Amino acid sequence: MSSSSAIWSVDDHLADILAAIRPLEPIELQLLDAQGCVLVEDITVPVALPPFDNSSMDGYAVRVADVQGATEEFPAVLTVIGDVPAGGGGLPTVGPGQAARIMTGAPLPPGAETVVPVEWTDGGAGGGAVTEMRPAGESPEGASGEVRVHRPAAAGAHVRSRGSDVRAGDLALARGTVLGPPQIGLLAAIGRGTVRVRPRPRVVVLSTGSELVQPGESLGEGQIYDSNSFALAAAARDAGALAYRVGAVTDDADTLRATIEDQLIRADLVVTTGGVSVGAYDVVKEALSSVGDEDVPGGGIDFRSLAMQPGKPQGFGTIGPEHTPLLALPGNPVSSYVSFELFVRPAIRTLMGLDDIHRRSTRAVLSAEKALTSPSGRRQYLRGVYDAGAGTVTPVGGAGSHLVAALAQADSLIVVPEDDTSVEPGAELEVVHLG
Ligand code: AMP
Ligand code: MG
Repeated sequence: MSSSSAIWSVDDHLADILAAIRPLEPIELQLLDAQGCVLVEDITVPVALPPFDNSSMDGYAVRVADVQGATEEFPAVLTVIGDVPAGGGGLPTVGPGQAARIMTGAPLPPGAETVVPVEWTDGGAGGGAVTEMRPAGESPEGASGEVRVHRPAAAGAHVRSRGSDVRAGDLALARGTVLGPPQIGLLAAIGRGTVRVRPRPRVVVLSTGSELVQPGESLGEGQIYDSNSFALAAAARDAGALAYRVGAVTDDADTLRATIEDQLIRADLVVTTGGVSVGAYDVVKEALSSVGDEDVPGGGIDFRSLAMQPGKPQGFGTIGPEHTPLLALPGNPVSSYVSFELFVRPAIRTLMGLDDIHRRSTRAVLSAEKALTSPSGRRQYLRGVYDAGAGTVTPVGGAGSHLVAALAQADSLIVVPEDDTSVEPGAELEVVHLG
């Protein structure tokens, strides 16, 4: 363990973390497993989309000349030679005076130049109607069905032409694209089953404290429920990670060390909460003193004081044979959550290879009954509710770092700069949006 005696600024602590973190090596993933991940290859289109001319309507595939001038009064009467369902092969050839009944998405049969929607016809009811679906190419019984078309159609009307979406050889998605649902849809549409992406980081979240009980169990004297490991596992997932929540570990250094060492196998990043301040049972500090320095030449966890509130005590370093980054966050629920937002989230997003690693922030006018007070020399992060329409932010709860109910009401963090000890209502402040 090392302990910096200097006070670190929020920005320097974050910069120190990010300098030690590299994006994860790309792997090939199934499409749905790649959701939210960053593509590391340019994807070109192997075959045009659509792959063939096809109908955008249910109707009749015909020749333009055969329906030219058709009206309600003087409909074009065409012989229906068969059905063309979507997915069918063996297409009938549409000759002069003929029509093939065609379904949406079905290939335009040879000879046909346009599609008249069924609404522009009598639906084949006019004489010897073809109402049953038949396999493409198979002549209807007697082939004597007729359809009356009462409107003309221009060449290519209601036809989605081959390559009108993308052409073979086009760039479908550029490397660096974040794969959201439409991008995953496009990959599937061009026939890609897997893609090369940077994987989601595996984040192990572990809380410490002998007072902690798993929710759902009953509380004994002096016990509280472990909320940090749940909040932070959820936050890690929200940031894009695969979160592994490890139940609370008792305040025993050997147990904690053994637990962390066991978890390293599945961790790209380890997050602990609690046990980092200056109390008698600061188990994370105690446990990581030997793991860090002995096992990792040049590595180790540095415990430091930050010029922020909440979240003053923090630890950061690398651990184990793979030099896995570990962030040791303070135990108070609000402190650990704010610390996660400020330091862990950007670390996760850096591991993912995302450019956009920070939360969106804006400026807003403080809406409050009275002035806010903030400690000198520390950047304060208060919880707030932002009103986009009014451009205001209203604090919820006080500065207490145990106030989880107020945190659950908040949608933003209000940032009071290091040098400001008092902020009057109406003043403008930076607001970090938590969503
Ligand atoms: P510590 O830094 O371990 O002394 O914890 C500071 C405060 O946060 C104490 O009041 C703890 O009981 C509380 N705390 C620590 N870890 C958790 C947790 N996982 N869930 C809820 N409260 C916690
Ligand atoms: Mg503790």
